[in-house]
Amino acid sequence: MAHQINGIALPNEDGFFGQYGGQFIPPDLKQAMDDINVAYEHIRHTAEFQNELSDLFAHYVGRPSPLFYAKRLTNQLGGAQIYLKREDLNHTGAHKINHCLGEALLAKYMGKTKVIAETGAGQHGVALATACALVGIPCEIHMGQVDIEKEHPNVVKMKILGATLISVTRGTATLKDAVDSAFEEYLKDPQNYIYAIGSVVGPHPFPMMVRDFQAIIGDEIKVQTNERFGANPDYVVACVGGGSNALGAFTAFLNDEDVKLVGVEPAGHGLDTHMHSATLTLGKPSHIHGMACYVLEDEQGEPLPVHSIASGLDYPGVGPQHSLLKDLGRVEYSTATDQECLDAFMILSRVEGIVPALESAHAVAWALREAPKMAKEIKIVVNVSGRGDKDADYVAAKLGLN
Ligand SMILES: *Cc1c(COP(=O)(O)O)cnc(C)c1O
Repeated sequence: MAHQINGIALPNEDGFFGQYGGQFIPPDLKQAMDDINVAYEHIRHTAEFQNELSDLFAHYVGRPSPLFYAKRLTNQLGGAQIYLKREDLNHTGAHKINHCLGEALLAKYMGKTKVIAETGAGQHGVALATACALVGIPCEIHMGQVDIEKEHPNVVKMKILGATLISVTRGTATLKDAVDSAFEEYLKDPQNYIYAIGSVVGPHPFPMMVRDFQAIIGDEIKVQTNERFGANPDYVVACVGGGSNALGAFTAFLNDEDVKLVGVEPAGHGLDTHMHSATLTLGKPSHIHGMACYVLEDEQGEPLPVHSIASGLDYPGVGPQHSLLKDLGRVEYSTATDQECLDAFMILSRVEGIVPALESAHAVAWALREAPKMAKEIKIVVNVSGRGDKDADYVAAKLGLN
């Protein structure tokens, strides 16, 4: 596993990836984060933890997830071969279960009495509530009232799974307010509670820890492509919100210079509008949520309102490791618009019978755009981070299908 690049640690002892990452948090929170780091550094090297996690990956999540050759799509595009890494087939329907299981096991090991998190569309909330039910630890999810009304199926699922749902009505009653509310609850007792972050973001050690739990994706891709065609793929492509499914897919290949890595950000209504969430493409180095990273912010240093058709991608920050990989030029960060994403959603559904999450459809959109320009022997692996059941009603209404 690649934990350094060009001699730069990923991360160093203080949690920095080059100039990004770190812990920009109050002192009492720093103690709590350091305790989590010590506990994680301990258990990650124990056979008991590794065996428990691999057993759950195999028999609970259903790993390894298949690598599928999209033959009809490839033939239609007439260029590079397209392979799909099927994270959409995981239990709960996305890659998020990979790190939620890791976080829930860590919480149990540390004797925490409550796992706290925020959720926007409810995907992180459902995956975490699932992992907490399995591990047997109380779970409290904070969600904006506006999102609660929009995301009814996920709200009900969290309740069925036994999570306590806190409805947040302050401010705009959306994701940012849910983060503030969950954080306040966590600060009441950081010794006994744990805040389970939903991507490779936040203060150290979360960007490292979540990446480690997700790295199974790329490890499997490497084995699967080498079994299938005796070589690494030429490209690995993934969508980037906070960046966890992308780092999961990229990590095994970071030091394989022949493998091109592409992260696809949401261009929303277009990069020349304010309605996008292309943080690495148009943001600048700054701070948000306890870390240094690229941020989309205004002149006063306030995070800008962001937009994507995929609610899992609209975040004004991005993982610190991605910020470094951009500066180093190791990963190419590209974008896809809402319209390209919708087209990709329908094309993959109709040509391969696979309905992708709108988030994942951004990575598919990149392949649809670029594969036709490439030679037929080139092989692209697209990470299908999740399934599109959650988006079906929205897309059907948008396209007038119902
Ligand atoms: C949450 C989510 C994402 C975005 O999160 P990353 O941390 O950028 O991976 C992408 N795809 C799906 C299906 C998601 O649920």
